[in-house]
Order: sequence, then C-alpha cells, then structure tokens
Amino acid sequence: MSELDRREILDWLREKGESRLDLLWQRADTVRRERVGDVVHLRALIEVSNHCRRNCLYCGIRAGRRIQRYRMSDSEVLGCARQAARLGYGTVVLQAGEDDGLSTEVVALMVRRIKAETGLAVTLSLGERNADELAVWHKVGADRYLLKHETSDVRLYRRIRPGCELTDRLHLLRLLRELGYELGSGIMVGIPGQSWESVCDDIALFRDLDLDMVGIGPFIAHPDTPLGRNAHRLALVAEKQVPATDLLTLKVVALTRLVCPTANIPATTALATISPGSGRQSALSCGANVWMPDLTPQEYRQLYDIYPGKAGGQLTVEEQHERLLEVLEGMSRIPGAGPGSRRDSRPASAG
Ligand code: SAH
Ligand code: SF4
Repeated sequence: MSELDRREILDWLREKGESRLDLLWQRADTVRRERVGDVVHLRALIEVSNHCRRNCLYCGIRAGRRIQRYRMSDSEVLGCARQAARLGYGTVVLQAGEDDGLSTEVVALMVRRIKAETGLAVTLSLGERNADELAVWHKVGADRYLLKHETSDVRLYRRIRPGCELTDRLHLLRLLRELGYELGSGIMVGIPGQSWESVCDDIALFRDLDLDMVGIGPFIAHPDTPLGRNAHRLALVAEKQVPATDLLTLKVVALTRLVCPTANIPATTALATISPGSGRQSALSCGANVWMPDLTPQEYRQLYDIYPGKAGGQLTVEEQHERLLEVLEGMSRIPGAGPGSRRDSRPASAG
C-alpha cells in the first residue's frame, strides 16, 4: 500500500458522509461482482469443541471461565457434515477452542471420514497447533485453515491474548500456506485499544499475506470476560479508539474487497449479531461473498458462547437455510454449489 493508498484508507475509515460512503459501497460491490461474481459460497460451521487452553480476554470460552464444556464425537461431526452435504453446502468448517483433546488422530479421523463420505471441502479453525499435526491434517484431506490474527498491533495482541505473540501467529500463517492449505485470517473491529492506524495495518497485512479468505467481525463485549467487564481499561481516548460498530465493520469489509479483490469474504455472524435483520445483506452488498450457516447441534451451540446473542442461534438448520435462500434471492445472488475455493472464484453466474 503506498502512502497515498494508506491515507485514502484512513480517510474512508473516518468518513461520515452518507453519500460519500455510498461511493465506497458501490465501488466494493462492483469489484466483488467483476472479480468473484454473484455466487455466495456456503460454508457449514460446526463448532466441534468449546474446550480451550487459552485465556483470550475477549472470549467467552476462555479457559478461566467456569462453563459446561463439550467435545463432539466424530460420529456427531459426521452427522452434521452429512446434513451440510444434503443442503448443498460445499464446505464444512470445523471450529473449536485450542483443545488438546482434539488430538492429531481424532481430527485426522474426522477429516478422513468427512472426505470419504461427503467429499466436501474441509476448513479447520482449531487455533494454534504444531507443524506436525497441521501437516498430517492437510495430508489426510483438510483443504483450508482459518486463523484470524485479530489485530496487527503487537502490543494490543499481547494484552488481549495473554501468553501469545503476534509473530508466532504470523509464522503459523506462513507455515500453513507452505503446507498447501488455502489460508484464511481476519480481525475483530473495535477491540478496546485498537487504533485507526492499526486497522490500516490490518488491511495491508491481508494483502501482504495474499489471503484466500478474510473474516471481519465486530468485537462484541462478553459480560463474563475481562475485556467485556473492563473495556475502559484498554480503550484509547475517544478520537483514537476504533468503534465496534456495524458501520466500521462494513467499511473494513468494503476496503478489504478493494485491496484483496479475489478473496473470499464472509458476511459474518458477529456482524449479523450486532445488526439483526440486516447485517448479512449489508455485508453482501459491500464486498462479501460467503455465508457460514451454523450447523452445530442446538445443545452445543449455546455452549459455544464466545460472545452473547449470536445471530440465528435459536433457528433450526432448516430455518437458517430457508432464510439464507430468501435473502440471496431478494438480492439476486446465487447460492454456491461447489467448494468455493478462491481459485475457482470467477465472475460466472453459476457456482
Ligand atoms: N480458537 C480459535 C478459533 C475459535 S474462536 C482461535 O482463536 O483462532 C473464533 C473467533 O471468534 C476468533 O478468531 C475471534 O475473532 C472470534 N471471537 C472470539 N470472541 C469474540 C468476541 N467477544 N467478539 C467478537 N468475536 C469474537
Ligand atoms: Fe480459545 Fe480461540 Fe477463545 Fe482464544 S479466541 S480463548 S484461543 S477459543
């Protein structure tokens, strides 16, 4: 990003004029249409475990919180994957806390069974794991890995993820790419302590990492976490602090589409949570091209409590699916039928 580009990005992030912002939304929507087309890729999210050894200050399933924990069996996960295949979704995303109980073998078996029985693309989002297990999982068929860097501000990262270093996260992202995974990362927008400049750095990093997928969601305060309770301790003075709003999140989505024109960008559940009823449509109108319905069984979904009030949390899988089809039809967008890899994304009108 040249100095001018960076200045421009900063200006857009701070822009308040509605008619000026309409230009940003239109520009991002045009680039989306021209570069990745009207297809919206569908990824079934399966939250396979809420055990976690980390203590991220923002997260409701952090190790230090006393909550009921669960880990799905491989048969349960396979049941969800079969349901995803029946509904025509091209990918399953297996997400969890950093759970040592999800051993190399346990995950390898899940991946093998899903691939053998459904042929779906598999994305893993299991946090920071070691090089050997990541290599094994790719070898048995895992296609993609999603590991958000959350913020590119080294000091803020250290504060909100105790015991973790941004350099380790970035090293892991590069390793995942070398291993052959398609690579997803992303950020939370409006973390207490997050500056406008650091969001510019985040957007530059998306481009430098040449990400296949970029997930952008607002920070949502969880009242039973240190950051939810004590946001003021980290927050910058008002004019320096990035707000955790739907508007700011949409600006980051739109700017990301301009900087990474062929990336897959989801309309995130976190955005739909703070903007009920319109969050997904808004994101899909300004750059997003992916939707990730939650296929986690109801009894586990409520225990995967990373932030409160998750959008769609009460809906059955079928209800979510109907709503998704309705929204896409209303927007003249096409539900994707295949795995929806970045390399397959073309401005075609079929998926
Ligand atoms: N343990 C893995 C994956 C599960 S957490 C990891 O941390 O990478 C998945 C995502 O949930 C995180 O990347 C983070 O961006 C998001 N998340 C967690 N707590 C959140 C909160 N309070 N508000 C918004 N997003 C949150
Ligand atoms: Fe664990 Fe991920 Fe939550 Fe951090 S964000 S506590 S690693 S689940």
